[in-house]
Amino acid sequence: MVKTIKGIAASDGIATAEAYLLVQPDLSFDKKSISDADAEVSRLKDAIATSDAELTKIRDVAKVSLGEDEAQVFDAHKMILADPEFTGAVEQEIKDQSVNAEQALDDVSKNFIAIFEGMTDNPYMQERAADVRDVTKRVMAHLLGVELPNPSLIDHEVIIIAHDLTPSDTAQLNKKYVKGFVTDIGGRTAHSAIMARSLELPAVVGTNTITGDVKDGQTVILDGLNGAAIIDPSDEDIKKYDKMAKDFSAQKAEWEKLKNEATVTADGKHFDIAANIGTPDDLEGVIANGAEGVGLYRTEFLYMQSEELPTEDDQFEAYKTVLEGMKGKPVVVRTMDIGGDKHLSYLPLPEEMNPFLGYRAIRISLDRQEIFRTQLRALLRASAFGQLRIMFPMIGTLAEFRSAKKIFEEEKAKLVEKGVEVSDHIQLGMMMEVPAAAILADQFAKEVDFFSIGTNDLIQYTMAADRGNEHVSYLYQPYNPSILRLVKHVIDSAHAEGKWAGMCGEAAGDNIMVPLLLGMGLDEYSMSATSVLRVRSLMKKLSTADLKELAERAVNESITNEDNKKLVESYINK
Ligand code: PEP
Ligand code: MG
Repeated sequence: MVKTIKGIAASDGIATAEAYLLVQPDLSFDKKSISDADAEVSRLKDAIATSDAELTKIRDVAKVSLGEDEAQVFDAHKMILADPEFTGAVEQEIKDQSVNAEQALDDVSKNFIAIFEGMTDNPYMQERAADVRDVTKRVMAHLLGVELPNPSLIDHEVIIIAHDLTPSDTAQLNKKYVKGFVTDIGGRTAHSAIMARSLELPAVVGTNTITGDVKDGQTVILDGLNGAAIIDPSDEDIKKYDKMAKDFSAQKAEWEKLKNEATVTADGKHFDIAANIGTPDDLEGVIANGAEGVGLYRTEFLYMQSEELPTEDDQFEAYKTVLEGMKGKPVVVRTMDIGGDKHLSYLPLPEEMNPFLGYRAIRISLDRQEIFRTQLRALLRASAFGQLRIMFPMIGTLAEFRSAKKIFEEEKAKLVEKGVEVSDHIQLGMMMEVPAAAILADQFAKEVDFFSIGTNDLIQYTMAADRGNEHVSYLYQPYNPSILRLVKHVIDSAHAEGKWAGMCGEAAGDNIMVPLLLGMGLDEYSMSATSVLRVRSLMKKLSTADLKELAERAVNESITNEDNKKLVESYINK
């Protein structure tokens, strides 16, 4: 029977394929006393051998589809399986305690995990705890005769169905076969949704129930334009969505024609449309979509895709690749923004009640200065290869900005003294995403070179609504006059000091928001690369002269988000 599940449209596009449930199976077991230890050891050995064979297959596939680095983690898992200290201890536990293999495996692995996690002065060894946990899960599944999902082994077209996807899960999806994803939880500005947009992977999030609604192998149509998943579609549904997919492709082909054009409004004003990237690999999309720069390079992805803190040289190479690739166009690199929903397995952070309000971004950088200084040195060295701008995330006070700037100047001076070539024109700016800073934008504007407004966080902090929580997603209200007043104040403050203001939050690529931002005089618009041509096409039809008045009405007269949405819609459809 056809079922339509509604959710939040997180990434444009339509896809039809088989459902692939990426759901963790139940691995619970009962503790049993056994009398035949040899039989139990032999069950264990069988489960280990099957796990090892499975890991070999996964590693080989991962090497081809995801690359050598991503595949290495499976070698580490195979090493644990081959380590007599681990597997021998499980065998011994079966014999000594006369317990079933499941119980012995659980006891021994918990012990190993506790030992690794306790090595607080050795992040590399701490990281091994996660490997032991993964390997244990695999062997346990085989002991229990339960199948684990193995996304790396997917060899046909699927739509991933999951409760949630972390940014690193998303990064590992093989685009050749994964045609999109649908999740139970999440919001439009959660990082897995942002990554889906940069991978051009249709996605619907926050459905609440999809993992219970669909079975492995059922056909699913994913409608990333309207936020719906259609399970077991009828022939009519398939026809209707095929047409929608074709129309969407035709629309994209129209936008494509603007690829090599500058972004100029109907009254002849030029604006920069830049793209947001997570890794140097995303440059391909930036260039293919004709972006006029990179307005946000989320460098934390470099840290997240690595097994340990990336070295200065590794970082230098990545930044240099991006700067050279952009051929002199501006590149705004944001320093590491870890914390919130972005974690590093090798840099365990304290458990927090409110991670988005906790120890993250510049707060970590100023506290763990060795990490920050390494990143700044890599950036400074790379600055010789293009037009580098640096900004700091989550700045809430002037003291934070000043400290970050001082550390930057210190590292710069040291490199210059050593004779290293460093650009003298690096602009230093900040993300405007903490309301306290936005309110004081006039003060900050005297000290920064630019602002980039991070609406994803600015909205969640101003509206007090978690950006990843589908139950409060109605409070993601970019056109709410409270948000618009903050945005306007930031832009006006920058201009009063002769500085520029951009926006790199998702709202910068929003069809309703763009006319308002043009009316407020925003200088630079940075968005998912896949939105660039749509926004360029929109801007070509708009005239800034009319929009000034429209924005004033939105900021001063309207009361709600909805009022402003209607205001802009009626203007556009006029
Ligand atoms: C933002 O907060 O708007 C932003 C661009 O940064 P991030 O989404 O990485 O938090
Ligand atoms: Mg942010």
